[in-house]
Amino acid sequence: MLAEKDKIFPNLYGDQPAALASAKGRGDWDNTAALLAKGREWFIEETKRSGLRGRGGAGFSTGLKWSFMPKESPRPHYLVINADESEPGTCKDRDIIRHEPQKLIEGALIASFAIGAHACYIYIRGEYFREAEVLQVAIDEAYAAGLLGKNAAKSGWDFDLYLHRGAGAYICGEESALLESLEGRKGFPRMKPPFPAQMGLYGCPTTVNNVESIAVVPTILRRGADWFAGIGRANNTGTKIFCISGHVNHPCNVEAEMGIPLRELIDRYAGGVRGGWDNLKAIIPGGSSVPLLPKSVCDTVLMDFDSLKAEKSGLGTAAVIVMDQSTDVIKAIARLSKFYMHESCGQCTPCREGTGWMWRMMERLVKGQARIEDIDLLEEVSHQIEGHTICALGDAAAWPVQGLIRHFRGEIEDRIRLAVGK
Ligand code: SF4
Repeated sequence: MLAEKDKIFPNLYGDQPAALASAKGRGDWDNTAALLAKGREWFIEETKRSGLRGRGGAGFSTGLKWSFMPKESPRPHYLVINADESEPGTCKDRDIIRHEPQKLIEGALIASFAIGAHACYIYIRGEYFREAEVLQVAIDEAYAAGLLGKNAAKSGWDFDLYLHRGAGAYICGEESALLESLEGRKGFPRMKPPFPAQMGLYGCPTTVNNVESIAVVPTILRRGADWFAGIGRANNTGTKIFCISGHVNHPCNVEAEMGIPLRELIDRYAGGVRGGWDNLKAIIPGGSSVPLLPKSVCDTVLMDFDSLKAEKSGLGTAAVIVMDQSTDVIKAIARLSKFYMHESCGQCTPCREGTGWMWRMMERLVKGQARIEDIDLLEEVSHQIEGHTICALGDAAAWPVQGLIRHFRGEIEDRIRLAVGK
């Protein structure tokens, strides 16, 4: 169990004010200038050594991502923080912004320094209206205290931080679509390469990081890479905010150690599955885009990148969606198919046509109005979408369907047979 002293977000539930004075009492902005004096290379190496992997879903090494930025460049560098948080089931960045905004702001300064950026944009989803208000107040407080702006926090580094509100499209959580939107265009994902580190915002070297990835950085650098790497297990280190929703007794966000058993996470922090563990049917462990897991796997699986990958699922955003035996699991996945169809930007044919095709097929499966052979056909179509699109939305639409067929084929077949009276 994660000790209180090892929690990075002691105010996750808003027991104390979000204000700067209160945040300083929790250790934020503690001699930031001395930290920055250690230099850019030290930041990158220490972050790499901590094993921090991006908390936005992909799980790529944060330090390694920073190292892709050019050392010297005639063009300005930018840090962009992705606060679009649109993955269904995910609500962790919201609580960081509401209750620990200074951790994000200090992290923005540190990460920007590490990649040579004098400006950072936080792109927040439009629906987070109150959160944007809280964050803007926190940014204004930091400016007034000399922590942002010229000679930020007396570090000798000039740094400006801007908050930008999106208009609520899921696809703008994809980093290149986010950059398009930030530049004032439609949120269409870009072809890669070039990657943002070569050509990102306004054609300049840019790093895009998730809110949680940035907000944990000041604590990691203060307490040391060894401390962070000592929590969890190899290649899956540190603490993580899990969002637990669905059929549990106490839905919540909770900071726990990486690699915690899924069952322990739910029993200890969310009051257990409604009706008891044996009433569990399936869990989506990492937000709507990752394949669900049946109870037999949930019994023993660990909550980290590699353990969930080994079970053909993923940690994603660590949004744990619990479904008990009362769930019509086919209908649940059909609802997700509808979501991805609606959110497809329409640029590539496999995604534009395939997501609608899958949704219509899923609707037929819900009613049992399909042939048994159609299950294989649906799976084949999902594989034709996966990996054949500009961005990962195609994969995100395909994976839930594949997970359903992998684990609940029997239930789909039973419904078809029942409908045709065989
Ligand atoms: Fe747009 Fe879908 Fe292609 Fe992504 S995969 S660029 S959302 S059409």
